[in-house]
Amino acid sequence: MVSRVIPVQPFDLVVFGGTGDLARRKILPALFRRYCAGQMGDAARVIGAARAEMDDTAYRDFVRGAITEFGADTACAPDQLEAFLGQIGYVTLDAQGAQGWDALKARLGDADRIRAFYFSVGPGLFADLAARIETHGLAGPDTRVVVEKPFGRDLASARSLNADLAKHFDETQIYRIDHYLGKETVQNLMAIRFGNMLFEPLWNSQYVDHIQITVAESGGVGSRGDYYDKAGAMRDMMQNHIMQLLCLTAMEPPAKYDPHAVRDEKLKVIRALGPVEPGDVVRGQYEGTDSLPGYLEEVGDDSSRTESFVALKARIGNWRWAGTPFYLRTGKRLRARASEIAVVFKDAPHSIFGADAGRHRNILTIRLQPNEGIEMGVTIKEPGPGGMRLVDVPLDMTFSEALGPEAGDIPDAYERLIMDVIRGDQTLFMRGDEVEAAWEWTDPIIEAWDAPGAEPCPYATGSSGPDDALALMHRDGRRWREIRI
Ligand code: NAD
Repeated sequence: MVSRVIPVQPFDLVVFGGTGDLARRKILPALFRRYCAGQMGDAARVIGAARAEMDDTAYRDFVRGAITEFGADTACAPDQLEAFLGQIGYVTLDAQGAQGWDALKARLGDADRIRAFYFSVGPGLFADLAARIETHGLAGPDTRVVVEKPFGRDLASARSLNADLAKHFDETQIYRIDHYLGKETVQNLMAIRFGNMLFEPLWNSQYVDHIQITVAESGGVGSRGDYYDKAGAMRDMMQNHIMQLLCLTAMEPPAKYDPHAVRDEKLKVIRALGPVEPGDVVRGQYEGTDSLPGYLEEVGDDSSRTESFVALKARIGNWRWAGTPFYLRTGKRLRARASEIAVVFKDAPHSIFGADAGRHRNILTIRLQPNEGIEMGVTIKEPGPGGMRLVDVPLDMTFSEALGPEAGDIPDAYERLIMDVIRGDQTLFMRGDEVEAAWEWTDPIIEAWDAPGAEPCPYATGSSGPDDALALMHRDGRRWREIRI
């Protein structure tokens, strides 16, 4: 299968924080891949802007290093890297001062083209950048700003960030990134639901027993301890990534695949979420092993109560989902790095095969990692003589197998999202009201943890999380799916 690449219009992309970790690991390699795929075009310009003193040549060396380290798998001709680097420049700039802004303005000139500003810096600098872009006259109607997570740490701070951006930009110019939305399988969830007749009639509490969403990591906090200990699993994963997966799974069919319709439907889901009862949420902290440090040791604070794991039962109060719980969990140092959405259908109302046939359920699994794909568990007769014995088998659609080797070469989420910014398509970006509604739901859960005596449950490295998380489902007569690769 040959994929169709449509080149985007010429653009200037300024990457504030262009020397940072995210730029090095994700943004710059993603741009290079789109360049090699013929999508970025020869007229596009990328300007790194950060505090470090360096010139264009030094920055190109930096970009070359980033691509060698994180984009080496890119399919491209040998001379393409140097041609790509020819489109890269750098400006030393202070987001909070005057340095560099005139130089940036001179670089950009008055070319009539799409201009995107990527805020790949800490959220503390968003307001400074937005204000300076305006005072230096760098913004026009074709200007977009891309902001990274975390978008606030609670409702109040998210509101304040939204207000800061709204002073200088229209909502249609603001692209709040949640890279989970750029994942191919996540978009496929919409294709599966709304492109087939098969699933949607069953996609409700009459036929779905429950839904499980798991985002499990096998690594610990590593070098991100400083950031992570102030955030925790709830802020780092649940409020944004898992919330987005929940929304796409639970939302009503939008009238159109466009930014307004899709985001309106997602917002309705968040607003329909009921409060989470204290007994319906479990938080945990991983313990060390002989060879690996525990959470407390890794963050260097014996008294930290920050959660590296959270599991909860969410209820959506609307006609479609009343009575069908959504079990959500995420954590670090778990058994495997594996993420999936599992839609567990109800038992058939009556078994004609008798009690010996056992209990069989259809489960639709949308795998985000590893091996992005979709699997439908169906029940069939076990082959051979000896009566009617039933067995569950997967109807598996691993994209790379079903669509040929090219489909296995799935673009990284950042590649897609950056090109969407240039195309002016906000469908896969979070709207301001969505982010605020998500914090509104999350805040009371986090606030309850501040109560004296509320401690995270310890769990073993390499496990499925604390025992209390298993009990959360057991008491409902259900069980978590195994975390496995
Ligand atoms: P980083 O600390 O590695 O880089 C920060 C960048 O900001 C550097 O280029 C630095 O020069 C620049 N900077 C800092 N102060 C500045 C100032 N006053 N003026 C101009 N430039 C300034 O951070 P990072 O890991 O690249 O993260 C950037 C943003 O992306 C953060 O909001 C982070 O939360 C978010 N993010 C990062 C990752 C990741 O994997 N690194 C993942 C998701 C989101």
